[in-house]
Amino acid sequence: MTSELIKKLDYDATFDCVQCGFCLPSCPTYLTMKEEKHSPRGRINLVKYAVEGKAKLKDLEEAIDLCLGCRQCETVCPTNVQYGDIYETAVSVLRENRNKKLDSKIMSLFLERNYMLTLMYKGLKLYHTPFMYKAITNTKMLDILPDRLGNMAKILPPVKKQKNHVNKPFRTKKTTIGFFRGCMMDAFFSNINDLAIKILEAHDIQVVEISQQTCCGALQHHAGEMDKAKTLAKMNIEALEKYDVDYYVNAIGGCGASLIEYDHLLRHDDKWNKRAEQFVEKVKDISVIFDQLDLNLTNEINKKAIYQPSCHLQNVQQVFKEPENVIRQIKGLEYKILPEKDICCGSAGIYNIVNYEASMDILNRKMTHVKKVEPQLIITSNPGCHLQMLLGVKNENLEHTIEVKHIVEVVAEACGVE
Ligand code: SF4
Ligand code: SF4
Repeated sequence: MTSELIKKLDYDATFDCVQCGFCLPSCPTYLTMKEEKHSPRGRINLVKYAVEGKAKLKDLEEAIDLCLGCRQCETVCPTNVQYGDIYETAVSVLRENRNKKLDSKIMSLFLERNYMLTLMYKGLKLYHTPFMYKAITNTKMLDILPDRLGNMAKILPPVKKQKNHVNKPFRTKKTTIGFFRGCMMDAFFSNINDLAIKILEAHDIQVVEISQQTCCGALQHHAGEMDKAKTLAKMNIEALEKYDVDYYVNAIGGCGASLIEYDHLLRHDDKWNKRAEQFVEKVKDISVIFDQLDLNLTNEINKKAIYQPSCHLQNVQQVFKEPENVIRQIKGLEYKILPEKDICCGSAGIYNIVNYEASMDILNRKMTHVKKVEPQLIITSNPGCHLQMLLGVKNENLEHTIEVKHIVEVVAEACGVE
């Protein structure tokens, strides 16, 4: 059984690593843990040793579990090592080896059933009514939760009611987009999705909402649940390709990365690979669309701001400059580069819940840099990073001096869209 599993590791890709170590200063876990096994090179070598019989699968567990999957190491690697593939096979093999059926059931329960997301949304809404919020905070009920959950619950934003969007039956504008709302994004930040749609419509773009869309499959993919990730990919392709639109647009760095890799995920599926290739050609992050538009940025925002990019927006979607191009156009905004901007904030899906201590070490390092710049505004491009930066600001008692906003919220304010 174990020998069959080991054959699934991407041994060939490990030979592209020339052991140069260029990736080490870009790896958040190496920076905070200072151990070779928590560096990209160390992880690649462990996978290689496992196939060669010099290490057991058990020896890989800690190193692979503590990898954020941020893929910053891929972006800086001079020999183009496909770390994502090595990591993906290692996660999947370790999962099979441990037989984590319970995790899998819980994840499916929440992410693949719309009624569970609706329930979560209603629960959040109830929590944020003035009465409940006061009752819960005054009685310190959240303090009985473990830190990893209690601290996160305390920074959850108030839930705003989702706007009902009416689709026009035919293409009425030159540019038409299908909007991908995402499941977690819509549970926590449906107002950001609504604002994104309003900004696009204010710039003469027809927006189509696609109700049959489902979870992008990112969490399942990162947990090594490849069959579930593939099923969700096919459901989304089927739902979105029916519509006559130019792009599939989203405002979620992590989910967008998942959507844009559907062709890779389904590359061995003869029935779906062509459809997946056509699908990914249309996937765009909202910042790419903003950068192409002549945005009506009439309002000044007189604040010192930094941008904390989403790793997957940069390292997988290859969207580097567009968000900053947009930010730099905003009148009154004093844009400063955050030191180690490209290093992950420690959020990484549910990493900050399952690997809480490691995640907080990475966040503390990030906040040390934030405090040096002293911004009044942190701009984000993904809901996970957004919550993590809110937590960092709260941990440092800076809630009254630093705001955290998604790039869509900042552009909406600058365009006067409410
Ligand atoms: S992964 Fe790339 S950057 Fe890192 S040690 Fe190997 S070759 Fe060098
Ligand atoms: S994916 Fe991120 S955390 Fe993992 S080895 Fe690469 S840089 Fe380090």
